[in-house]
Amino acid sequence: MAGARRPGRNFLFVPGPTNVPERILRAMHVPMEDHRSSDFPKLTLPLYEDLKKVFQTKDGRAVIFPSSGTGAWESALTNTCSPGDKMLAPRFGQFSHLWIDLARRHGLEVIVQEETWGTGADPEKIEEALRADKNHEIKGVMVVHNETATGVTSDIAAVRRAIDAAKHPALLYVDGVSSIGSVDFRFDEWGVDLAITGSQKGMMLPAGLGIVCASPKALERMDGAACTKAYFDFADHFRTNPDGYFPYTPALPLLYGLRESLAIMFEEGLENVFARHRYLANGTRAAVEAWGLSLCAKDPKWYSDTVSAIMVPEGVNGADVIDRAYRGYNLALGAGLTEMAGKLFRIGHLGDLNELMLLGAISGAEMSMRDVGIDVVPGSGVAAAQEYFRGAQGMGETRLAAE
Ligand code: PLP
Repeated sequence: MAGARRPGRNFLFVPGPTNVPERILRAMHVPMEDHRSSDFPKLTLPLYEDLKKVFQTKDGRAVIFPSSGTGAWESALTNTCSPGDKMLAPRFGQFSHLWIDLARRHGLEVIVQEETWGTGADPEKIEEALRADKNHEIKGVMVVHNETATGVTSDIAAVRRAIDAAKHPALLYVDGVSSIGSVDFRFDEWGVDLAITGSQKGMMLPAGLGIVCASPKALERMDGAACTKAYFDFADHFRTNPDGYFPYTPALPLLYGLRESLAIMFEEGLENVFARHRYLANGTRAAVEAWGLSLCAKDPKWYSDTVSAIMVPEGVNGADVIDRAYRGYNLALGAGLTEMAGKLFRIGHLGDLNELMLLGAISGAEMSMRDVGIDVVPGSGVAAAQEYFRGAQGMGETRLAAE
C-alpha cells in the first residue's frame, strides 16, 4: 500500500501543526505584493494590537518573526540576556529540555530544577532557589506553560507569586507555544515578562511565525543585553513596526492567515475558545479512563487542555500504535519523545476542532490499540467521550450552550 492514495481526510491529531481552517487557507491564497507600499500598514498595524488581546496584555509589546516557536525562544533570550547570565529553569519534558539547551548554547548558565516527567514547575522550589540567591544573580525564570511532550500544564500565576514572595527581580519567561490561543493565558495578570508562541498550534496556521510578547520591564533589559543577535533583534523591529513595516521581507501569506485566524478567534470569543478546549480535553480524558489507561500527567492538577499523552501498557510500543493509526486509518497521533519514546502516544486536541472530529481520532486510536494487542473494550473510549459531550452540553459548559 506504500504510496497508495488514501481517500478521505487525513485526521491530523498531532499537537501541532493543527488543522488549518478553510477560511484561513483561502485568506492565505494571495498574490505577492509590495511590503513597503503605503497600504501595507493597514494589514500589519492591527495585527499587533489584536495579538495583545490573545496574550491578554495592555502594556506588553508583540513582535512577529518569520520563524517557528524556537526562533521566538531565541529572540526572547538574546534580546534580554548576556552570556554568563544565570537562569533558573524546571525541566520536565522534551520542550523544557530543548529550551534549556538553547539557552546554554547562547552562553547562559542555566540552573536546572529536575522534575518528574508528568509533573511541572514547582513554585515552592522556585521560591526557595530565588530566596537563596541573595545577590540576585539569577536573571530569569524560564517555564514551559504547556509541556507538549507530556501533556502537562504548569501554574504560571503560582510561579509569579513565588518570584514575588522571594522579592526577586528575575524576569518570568514563559513558553506558551502549545497554550496561547487555546487556553487562558494572562500575560499582565500573571506578571509574565516574555511570552512566546508559534503559529502552528492554537493559532491554526501553518508553522512559520514566531511571536513574542515582551513586558516594559523586559524591554528595559534590552540595554546591555550582550547575547549575539542580528536576525532576531527586537530593536530592528521596533524601528520599523510602529509604521507598519518589517526590517526584512515578511512572510506575507502567513500575515494574511494571521489576520483571519485572529478574526476567527474573536468571532468565537476567546472565553469560548478556552471553554471548548477544556471540554474537548475532558472528552478525551473520559475516553482514556474508559480504556483503563492512564495519562502521563500524574495528577489532575497537571492535566493539559490541549494535548493528552496516553501511556501504553508494559510490553507494547507506543510507536506501533502510532504507525498502525497512520497506515491503517489515516490518523496522525503524536509520538513519545526521548524519555517517553515508545511509552505513550499523544492526542492533540487543540485548534480548529469539534466533538465529531475528536471522536474520529478517539475511534482510530481505539482500533489501532486493539490492532497492536492492547486489550481495550471496543467502543469504550468513543462511548465515554460521547456521553461526556452529551452531558456537558446539558451542563452548559460549551460554546453551544453559551450562545
Ligand atoms: N515549545 C513547545 C511547548 C512546543 O510544543 C514546541 C513545538 O512543538 C516548541 C516549543 C518548539 O516550537 P517550533 O517547533 O515551532 O520551533
